[in-house]
Amino acid sequence: MIAPQPYKYKCSQCGFTKVVKPKSDVMNPTNMLSKCPKCGEKLTKVPLSLFDKIFR
Ligand SMILES: [Zn+2]
Repeated sequence: MIAPQPYKYKCSQCGFTKVVKPKSDVMNPTNMLSKCPKCGEKLTKVPLSLFDKIFR
């Protein structure tokens, strides 16, 4: 069994980011973002860097 890796959504328009930590057994619909809540721009899904893991 492979544990899901945390990732984040990033808005290239306003800099908004949201970290998502998926659970192995539950898919939480609120984690499924496709648009930026601030400006409505399409969000990009990116893996967490070491920087994010330290400062979140
Ligand atoms: Zn935005």
